[in-house]
Amino acid sequence: MPKINILPAKVYNRIAAGEVVDRPYSVVKELVENSIDAGATEIEIYIEQGGKQLIRVVDNGCGIERDDLQSAFLPHATSKIAQAEDLDNIFTLGFRGEAVASIAAVSKMTITSKTAEGKRYSLHSNGGELGTIKEVVGDNGTEVCVEMLFFNTPVRLGFLKTDKGEEADITNFVSRFILSRPEISFTYYVNGKKTLQSFGGGAAEALVEVYGAATLAQCYEINAERHGISIRGFIGNQGYFKANKSYQSIFLSGRYIQNLTISSAISNAYASYAMKRQYPFYVLYIDVPGEIVDVNVHPNKADVRFADNKIVYGCIYTILSAVLDGQPQGMDYVVRRPTASVYADEGVQEAVEPPVLPSYPPVFKPEPKPETIEETPALTYEEAKKEVASWAPTITVKKSEVALPFEGVGKQRSRVGGSGEKLTYVSSFAKTKVGKKEKTRDDSGLREIFPDLYYRDTDMQVKDSKPQTEEQNVFEENKRFLQDLERKNKQNRIDINSCTFSGKLFNTYLMYECGDKVYIIDQHAAHERLIYDRLKEQMDARRVMVQPMLVPYEFEVNAAEQAFIEAHLGEIREIGFNVKQIGMDRFMVNAIPLDLQYINLEAFFREILGNIEGYNSIRLTDLLKDKLATAACKAAVKGGMDLTRAEIDELFELMDGDMGLKCPHGRPVVVKVARTELEKMFKRIV
Ligand code: ADP
Ligand code: MG
Repeated sequence: MPKINILPAKVYNRIAAGEVVDRPYSVVKELVENSIDAGATEIEIYIEQGGKQLIRVVDNGCGIERDDLQSAFLPHATSKIAQAEDLDNIFTLGFRGEAVASIAAVSKMTITSKTAEGKRYSLHSNGGELGTIKEVVGDNGTEVCVEMLFFNTPVRLGFLKTDKGEEADITNFVSRFILSRPEISFTYYVNGKKTLQSFGGGAAEALVEVYGAATLAQCYEINAERHGISIRGFIGNQGYFKANKSYQSIFLSGRYIQNLTISSAISNAYASYAMKRQYPFYVLYIDVPGEIVDVNVHPNKADVRFADNKIVYGCIYTILSAVLDGQPQGMDYVVRRPTASVYADEGVQEAVEPPVLPSYPPVFKPEPKPETIEETPALTYEEAKKEVASWAPTITVKKSEVALPFEGVGKQRSRVGGSGEKLTYVSSFAKTKVGKKEKTRDDSGLREIFPDLYYRDTDMQVKDSKPQTEEQNVFEENKRFLQDLERKNKQNRIDINSCTFSGKLFNTYLMYECGDKVYIIDQHAAHERLIYDRLKEQMDARRVMVQPMLVPYEFEVNAAEQAFIEAHLGEIREIGFNVKQIGMDRFMVNAIPLDLQYINLEAFFREILGNIEGYNSIRLTDLLKDKLATAACKAAVKGGMDLTRAEIDELFELMDGDMGLKCPHGRPVVVKVARTELEKMFKRIV
């Protein structure tokens, strides 16, 4: 493991602080996380008397060097980050450097450790007072032994549950670790008795260890990716529900998290199957590109913020509904189907006559189509070029405005509420990015997902609003954050006249030389982004270009769907779909947004109507943003397409020197390579 650094104040002040070790399970959690961060493949956990008497964690990880043993006990001492910039790229579970110090202060703690190169040393701390380092014998790895927790803080000791109660909480945490790291072998002993054991044999094995084989038989195993977001794991079938939410685990990049965006997406996907007080079972492993997630948000590290909640929501919802509703593409996501009967689970009555699962689609009788529209090949470059040319002016106008890397994120928005008072909404993502310790409220996630609901609800805003001064501070900090972003963005903006085109690679990457830097542009990602921006702008401005259809599309609805469409007709038309009722249970679409002409209309309306309940709270337009990203992707020139020089120049001009662009899925459009980096590669300089 790299050296342990003592973080300078300017770094730790940016970290959402407040780690409190208040219960034995939090000690277990911190110690096991350290073992995982140390790269251990085998971890043993021993507890006695609910962890009050003893917590011992033994690992075969990288170990701590002799010179670092003392530092490990100091506050703000961590080998995992060294500078503020590292906070943006955290791959470890810990990074605050607080846990060992704060546990040592309230217990008798001994760390014994050996790196592959060094000898094994041991250091004891009595309530934070360090002894001397002793050489001992033993294997590589670390053992942390915590005895007599809270011996010097009787008040905290008094707040603990009974031994059994504390033990149950620890066991829950260990189970969660087993699920979160299926490749690690865990052994867990309670009062000397082996209680749980996993062998590091993968996710299905871990699930069976924790929940039993009968649960696995009730689950779909899925493996899917959309927009750079990958989702793997297990979801209960359409009839397998639990009576509470404790059977739901989400691991984001290996970290257990609770996040309202994700959990609402999942429960909405199950909405048509679950009855009241039935909760789906799931263990999901989600990975998103690092730049769209901010882990440094909550002291207990269980929450995260996404740069764009809607994309995350859309991806997860789409994938899970595709699987549950039996849509054709859902099959691509399924690795293993449930082997047990859908209705045979405990808690779910065996139906005398099994109810018919909602078929998919429930009521549509669409005209047969020769081929699915979704599969239509992408535009030829000539067509795409015409398209680009037609909207060039819009883009130019947009670029003169402030362009932030993540739209909607970090924007300080205000609007006048119904009662005439001015309401402010401040993105919590922006707030946390500046390292402000955040006041958490249960509805904060909801507020993020459905900000508009919250704007309107003036009562709630007034009641919950923080004291003026605190609000003011947040406002000020936000402003600073935005200015920083803008500055950073400006730094990413270059004068296109100072660039020369210097070739392309693999018909995919365009290279431009600019002073002592080379910019490498992904032609597909760039074009995709430009199209997406335009579509989104049009939609936001309600200036959607509409394309009349030669052959109108007709569909049938049931009574609930009919009522839904009627209630939302204005909104549906506003976003560019000209929908008309042509019979008791029939509607006709005779014009659609020009940019969505390649979407599969049948699937689109099916998706909307299949989730009527879900849309009571989510705005239809939000769903469309996801569709826009897909449409942009389809319309954009592809990687591997041989562009002419004129076409390349045109694309580059449209980018207007914005080298900080990200594609709608969050991937970078441009990569910058400095001349010095190249020279280092060739060892011209060191
Ligand atoms: P953090 O995990 O945030 O870095 P901790 O206080 O939990 O802070 O740990 C401090 C440091 O002690 C770690 O950064 C790491 O270098 C070292 N350490 C703690 N536990 C272990 C372990 N099991 N194996 C190797 N190093 C460890
Ligand atoms: Mg730690």
